[in-house]
Amino acid sequence: DEKKFVINFSAGPAKLPEAVLRQAQKEMLDYQDTGVSVMEMSHRSADFSKILNTTEQNLRELLDVPDNYKVMFLQGGGTGQFSAVPLNLMKLKPGHTADYLVTGTWSAKAANEAKKYGTVNMVLPATKKYTSIPDASTWNLNPEASYVYYCANETVHGVEFKDIPETNGVPLVCDMSSNILTRPVDVSKFGVIFAGAQKNIGCAGVTVVIVRDDLIGQAMDVCPSVFDYKVQSSNNSLYNTPPTYSVYIMGLVFNWIKSQGGVASMDHNSQVKSSTIYNVVEESDGFYCCPLDPKCRSRTNLPFRIGSIEGNDSLEKKFLEEATKAGYLQLKGHRSVGGIRVSLYNAVSVEEAHLLAGFMRNFIADNRH
Ligand code: PLP
Repeated sequence: DEKKFVINFSAGPAKLPEAVLRQAQKEMLDYQDTGVSVMEMSHRSADFSKILNTTEQNLRELLDVPDNYKVMFLQGGGTGQFSAVPLNLMKLKPGHTADYLVTGTWSAKAANEAKKYGTVNMVLPATKKYTSIPDASTWNLNPEASYVYYCANETVHGVEFKDIPETNGVPLVCDMSSNILTRPVDVSKFGVIFAGAQKNIGCAGVTVVIVRDDLIGQAMDVCPSVFDYKVQSSNNSLYNTPPTYSVYIMGLVFNWIKSQGGVASMDHNSQVKSSTIYNVVEESDGFYCCPLDPKCRSRTNLPFRIGSIEGNDSLEKKFLEEATKAGYLQLKGHRSVGGIRVSLYNAVSVEEAHLLAGFMRNFIADNRH
């Protein structure tokens, strides 16, 4: 069963490891001799419980999650969790105020969502450009905030935090949808971490939510039960039907990451893959232009323009056409920023990044006049 040659650089839903897809294919009709597909199993069956518990254990191991944190697998996506965060945490302090670090589209959306449930304090000056992160010494943090929110990696703009923000004891909430398990993180520094699975760790449908025990149980009265950390954690994510098949696929991805050497190896690959592409950009002498401050350039979503910093439409169109023809898929930048975006999640190999770098170099040679 030979497959057409392609390399999928999609920003998400994104490439999955081939070994994961092959195993899912093998088990599609008959999961481990049960005679049924995982899709057809009760979420309360012994077989599915085993999948759910093993998946949680593997995530705890991979991320070294401390015992005083609950892990949940929920529906509603990253966007659902934008609302769940204020619904669960806004009331932690009497002012019902939350600090938001807005560094791109996704944290901006999260801040707008939070405004429905309390007062949002913008920690950074307003900007439309999102090409850097202002120095921490200039941040307008409110010590009375119920929590501080940020997005570790902005998928659209390509801004990634290299360090965990210091919040002086205020619980820190992080959207890790587009860089989870691409680098080690000290979970104990966070109050809440959440991540949609469809980029680095699985397919769409399931969102990982990791919450410190002492932040559970303080939800607003209007918080829907399915988003209430207390309800979901005390029911082991089974208060309602979880996205069972997506949990299963995510479990296969965790096994695959372990087999590759765990997060340390994903981290190393991420470093090599992203510098391979940024090096082509840097060495292109202005042919490829990346507007981002090198200090916060994402390793998983690399946006750049071709021809000039505003982008040359016809060159970018030609690049995308030739790339697609060669099998390099989904390189078009997000419609709000234009240009090219290369997404290098865990399932994209070092070898594949090298192939794209070669294509990019050849494209310079053929198109620089
Ligand atoms: N947060 C980040 C960083 C994302 O990249 C995305 C989606 O691309 C989301 C949140 C929204 O996730 P969902 O579409 O699962 O709601």
